[in-house]
Amino acid sequence: MNRDPEQQRRFETRAVHSGERRARHKETGTNGPGTFYPVSTPIYASTTFSHPNIETTDRVLGGEEPGYSYARYDNPTVTAFERAITSLEGSEEARAFAFGSGMAAMHAALAAAELTSGATVLAAEQLYGSTATLLVQVFGAAGVEVCFVDCYDLGAVEKRVREKSPRAVVIESISNPLLRVSDVPAIAQITQAAGAALIVDNTFGTPYLQRPLDLGANIVVHSATKYLSGHGDITAGLVVTGAPYDGAVEQLRKLVGGVIGPFEAWLAHRGLKTLPLRMSRQCENAREIASWLNSHPKIAHVNHPSLKDHPDTEVARRVLSDTGGLVSFELASGGAEGREAAFAFLNSLELCVKAPSLGDVYTLAIHPATSSHRELSPSRRERLGVKESLIRMSVGIEHPQDLISDLEQALEKI
Ligand SMILES: *Cc1c(COP(=O)(O)O)cnc(C)c1O
Repeated sequence: MNRDPEQQRRFETRAVHSGERRARHKETGTNGPGTFYPVSTPIYASTTFSHPNIETTDRVLGGEEPGYSYARYDNPTVTAFERAITSLEGSEEARAFAFGSGMAAMHAALAAAELTSGATVLAAEQLYGSTATLLVQVFGAAGVEVCFVDCYDLGAVEKRVREKSPRAVVIESISNPLLRVSDVPAIAQITQAAGAALIVDNTFGTPYLQRPLDLGANIVVHSATKYLSGHGDITAGLVVTGAPYDGAVEQLRKLVGGVIGPFEAWLAHRGLKTLPLRMSRQCENAREIASWLNSHPKIAHVNHPSLKDHPDTEVARRVLSDTGGLVSFELASGGAEGREAAFAFLNSLELCVKAPSLGDVYTLAIHPATSSHRELSPSRRERLGVKESLIRMSVGIEHPQDLISDLEQALEKI
């Protein structure tokens, strides 16, 4: 039970208030305005912080006293954003660390899990492309053995963990683009028994749908470029973790320097306040669109955890508070014509934005085979179920009828 009075409040309330009004400003001088609290944490565009005396600076630099010294270490605007994330995503002992991108955050999480020469990492086959490439090209080249497993087959996960004794296991709460849902508590049981760190990329889930640390994960990673900031205007990342990993993440960020800038931290913190409102609307819209697409004659198949034929409906009910804002679907014109039909469909969209990324307030649509999964061989794409006729939508907060009208007129043109 968390005794922090702030943590007793509900998610929506914490999203709005957490991290704010911690810094008291005291202006001195004859005409100074006195003491005040800015209601929104200002953008501290300052690389360096001075103290009333050098002894204080000495104690701050020595870690004996909390305080700010240099912006690669920390910055009050960044700290405010991190406190808000700690409140939403953290368990009692965890801390959030903001980075300049999701990939910088993932790199720090993997390094904090001590993936050094001779260690093994076991990763989900369905992982975000750049994460898989980071594992192979950066950690693999440094002597880490990189193995993959179908993380929706718990028997296979258990077997691979037993065979390989990995130091870390990397999964995503919801996969791209087929929107499979990981059984985080079941996988956490397997990794805990084997003494492996479980790293969960919760970018698609957000703490609104799931808090992996509560389900047994050790380290949570986010691309805050997506839902957390939500407006398609910044690049940011986060690691949320507790002992024994938090100290390593902090030290790595100081030394490697993948920090978030104060302006980006401010925008991300501002975006976070509406996360529950946005996610609730996005989940509702996505459900409505998935159901509409599911009965359309030009659609062969729809992937969404709200649909009865989704392979993880039972897992989703246990581990997610709602069914998510992403939908993917195959057009009925499959085979060789699949790509042509997908391109014609995307080119006909008038409202939905044709662009990669996800989690923004506006609806986005992409062709995974030529974007997120472009680097894979056609046979590997086929094995992962990423067909040429597959479209992925990140549903925004628009009126659902306008989105459905746009999909309808685009489908008429193929
Ligand atoms: C976008 C994304 C990342 C990488 O984040 P950046 O902010 O682009 O560096 C990692 N994981 C997932 C699941 C993503 O969607």
